[in-house]
Amino acid sequence: MATHVRICTHTVLERIHPSLALRSIHDERGRIITRFAELVEKHADELAVLESLDAGKHPAVTKAVDVGNAAGSLRYFAGAADKIHGETLKMQGPFQAYTLREPLGVAGLIIPWNFPTTMFAIKVAPALAAGCTMVVKPAEQTPLSALYLADLAKQAGIPDGVINVVPGFGPTAGAALASHMNVDMVSFTGSTEVGRLIMEASARSNLKPVYLELGGKSPLIIFGDADLDMAVELAISANFFNKGEACVAATRVYVQDSIYDRFEEKLAERMKSWVVGDPLTDARVNQGPQVDKTQYERVLSYIDQGKREGATLLTGGRPCGQKGCYIEPAVFTNVKEDMVIAKEEIFGPVMCLMKFKTVEEAIAKANDTRYGLGAGVVTRDLDVANRVVRSVRAGVVWLNCYFAMDSDCPFGGRKMSGFGKDEGMQALDKYLAVKAVVTPLRGSPW
Ligand code: NAD
Repeated sequence: MATHVRICTHTVLERIHPSLALRSIHDERGRIITRFAELVEKHADELAVLESLDAGKHPAVTKAVDVGNAAGSLRYFAGAADKIHGETLKMQGPFQAYTLREPLGVAGLIIPWNFPTTMFAIKVAPALAAGCTMVVKPAEQTPLSALYLADLAKQAGIPDGVINVVPGFGPTAGAALASHMNVDMVSFTGSTEVGRLIMEASARSNLKPVYLELGGKSPLIIFGDADLDMAVELAISANFFNKGEACVAATRVYVQDSIYDRFEEKLAERMKSWVVGDPLTDARVNQGPQVDKTQYERVLSYIDQGKREGATLLTGGRPCGQKGCYIEPAVFTNVKEDMVIAKEEIFGPVMCLMKFKTVEEAIAKANDTRYGLGAGVVTRDLDVANRVVRSVRAGVVWLNCYFAMDSDCPFGGRKMSGFGKDEGMQALDKYLAVKAVVTPLRGSPW
């Protein structure tokens, strides 16, 4: 019955004027992206298990965070698809100008292994809304979710050829995209080292625009007036969430000297109840295995380096269990700013705990890094908070919280953490070309 009514309406409209029966391409695009979001939500359990098998991620957390963010991003940009506007511009002479924002063309989307489902969606969703076609290159460690998501996209009605998933290794599949003459832009998330290669490849090929979301060594600054229990919990989640495999992990924790000893004590106590193990078989587990043996060995070698440099392990720092890539989360104290563990991104469960006295010192220490991705501030003093928020050079600053993100909130770094935003309406601009159209004004005032 409902279908019959719809067909009749359509026919009547068509008879009055053919254009009335047409649905705008942007409207249709938004509907299809919404269907894609619904399918992602419907298949949340399968996606969560795939990510756990591929990357050792906690399935419950993956379902809530990764899949939730992915569906959220698709819905957000579904809503944006029919709101892509140009501007009308003033001209000096008898002319008028307006801008068109057109799809840029073929987008190359290269993603890492730590949040594969989220990364896929936050790049694919704005590219779809903008009307681009795309080639997605998932990380070689975690190709399963991207392939699964491509199938859901097809079920949602996204035409063949719009989303193309090409699993493969970085130096071959990834590099081919970065240097391809028919790829019109690249949006890359990964390490700073590979980001540099992508820019070089663009410079040597067709000068395609490149947007880079890179590594970090983010600071978390805890002032003496902080709620101590809350600050300890924030430091733990900001470091050990997703086994420390998070680009914005706050691996440099600066605690004001007035509360430092009590903070250290509480942190050590709290870490005693932290459970490392297989998140697929044990619901109590807080932290699963590192993504693979290479990453596991890399993290352990940084922990050795920290010990050799003279830092002290407050807790953890050892391999854990008989088999698998499990590491007890490490908290280092007696860390000096120039130690390798305080400077380089480890991308594993390793926290560096350091002290500061004054606001100026905290700001200087927080900014003493080549990275500028995230930062956290914990204080009840609004003046201190405002001062630090405005002085820290980072793409996102969390005040009395950490890791909270939203599709409407632009995400991306500064300095050697890259440039360009994923999420938020600014992300859409990466996939659009602005065309200025100029036409004479004859016979009208100007
Ligand atoms: P990576 O740079 O090694 O790999 C990322 C992606 O790039 C993978 O798909 C890989 O296959 C591809 N790649 C590798 N070499 C390439 C080349 N020569 N040309 C083109 N593509 C190539 O990074 P990773 O080890 O997968 O991820 C960890 C890094 O990603 C960390 O530095 C982390 O901070 C960063 N990261 C950043 C963000 C962010 O939003 N800023 C988010 C997640 C991860």
